[in-house]
Amino acid sequence: MTQVELAKLLPISQEIWQSFALCAQVDPETFYPEKGGSTKEAKRICDECDVKEECKDFALRTDQRFGIWGGLAESERHTLRKQKVANQSRFQ
Ligand code: SF4
Repeated sequence: MTQVELAKLLPISQEIWQSFALCAQVDPETFYPEKGGSTKEAKRICDECDVKEECKDFALRTDQRFGIWGGLAESERHTLRKQKVANQSRFQ
């Protein structure tokens, strides 16, 4: 069992996944590019991160407006939020 898998079983903290964030090992600027700047390197790192899904869920749940989270830029998270709302309204 990996450290990440073990951490997910332990009720120590709801956000313990952040302890395994790969982005904590690189320049934070990579994840907060200037407007129009490249997100490619940040997304490449996210693709290798063991807690990508947890990170993406957190960003959507807490409405993070800036930066790359879980491999998604704000515009992509915005699209996902809109799809989720549209899907929810279809079932009401
Ligand atoms: S998915 Fe990306 S932004 Fe999220 S913790 Fe991992 S490296 Fe950081």
